[in-house]
Amino acid sequence: MVDDLLKETERLIKERPLAGEVLTAFRDLAALMVGATPATKEAPVDEQLKDIKREEGFPLFARGDLPVDLDSATELLETFLTTLQTKERQDSEGLESALRVCQKDDSWSRNLLSMILKNDEDAIVRVAGDVNLEAQTLKFLAQMALTPSIQALRDLYLPHIDTDAWDYGYCPFCGSSPSISFFDKTGKRYMHCELCGLEWRFPRLRCPFCSNVDHKNMGYFDVENQEGFRVDFCRQCGRYIKAVDKRVFEQTGPMELENLATLHLDILAVKEGFK
Ligand SMILES: [Zn+2]
Ligand SMILES: [Zn+2]
Repeated sequence: MVDDLLKETERLIKERPLAGEVLTAFRDLAALMVGATPATKEAPVDEQLKDIKREEGFPLFARGDLPVDLDSATELLETFLTTLQTKERQDSEGLESALRVCQKDDSWSRNLLSMILKNDEDAIVRVAGDVNLEAQTLKFLAQMALTPSIQALRDLYLPHIDTDAWDYGYCPFCGSSPSISFFDKTGKRYMHCELCGLEWRFPRLRCPFCSNVDHKNMGYFDVENQEGFRVDFCRQCGRYIKAVDKRVFEQTGPMELENLATLHLDILAVKEGFK
């Protein structure tokens, strides 16, 4: 799985020179994920509870309750920090102090990983400040370290999830928000989960964040010379989501890569006042 991701990353680095730097950074971390073999154990799923959850709009798991293998993620986070702090980076001092606390006491990593799962932004900012790192950097590294465990778990539970029949703007598996969306080759719209990467079908003309369907309050903008990419926004809740139109391309990358390769669209959307 990671091998395919690496191949795709190499291809996109060549195709999207503007996103080369961020994709190269991703590739270097993804290469360290090759050896990660998270332990996953499927707990029996209560079919009745599962049906009730689906009917009431509850995901299979709440993010904070995902039974992920924190040991494997902790180990991977240490590997990331060990590798990155030897590179010439502006934040190498911060990376070195993060590595020191991580090696001294693995409850530091476990706490950080739990904060990511609970989506506790304030706590992440505090922990990042303590080791003198940008919160965004620490969050990215911790989330990458969790990825193999979360994806293995997601794949294990996939038979219990109907991604075509989920009518909500959050992930049916882990309840997270989508990071990016896409239109498939037949024009159907899908959301891509920011945490577990699950993709689920979603109505074309509805805001995933507030369920607004009033077209007068919605719109999109795109960038000159970049056919196939756009930003859908909603004036009712002030949120935006990027979209990739697969009909325009012969081949697109996995959505986690497309999300990274389109950071300039996030910058534009924020400039336009959306969040
Ligand atoms: Zn998810
Ligand atoms: Zn909205």
